[in-house]
Amino acid sequence: MPAFHDCHSEPGTAPLPEVIDAVPVPPPPEEPAVLNVRYRAGIVGERARVVHAATWTPRDVLITLCGMPLDPSLVEESTGMPCMRCIRIAARRAREDDEQRGLEG
Ligand SMILES: [Zn+2]
Repeated sequence: MPAFHDCHSEPGTAPLPEVIDAVPVPPPPEEPAVLNVRYRAGIVGERARVVHAATWTPRDVLITLCGMPLDPSLVEESTGMPCMRCIRIAARRAREDDEQRGLEG
């Protein structure tokens, strides 16, 4: 198989510029995804293994709606007995969102 070298530019020619048109489009701002997570078995007692609603922080830590930071390596996405504080806070936020949109009752 012949080696094919095409990488040396001729004298006097500028190297190809980077493709200027291909400006990456920034992703649109999104609502942070809410995960349903709880501690893995054995990390905490079974009674503490309620399912929290959690979002990612910029530091790659999950924070629950009820304000508890979670190490992602210690939790699993799951369903189960929900955290009542998370539920109340989520409900209140949903209501506030509706009020901001001008929806009544
Ligand atoms: Zn919670």
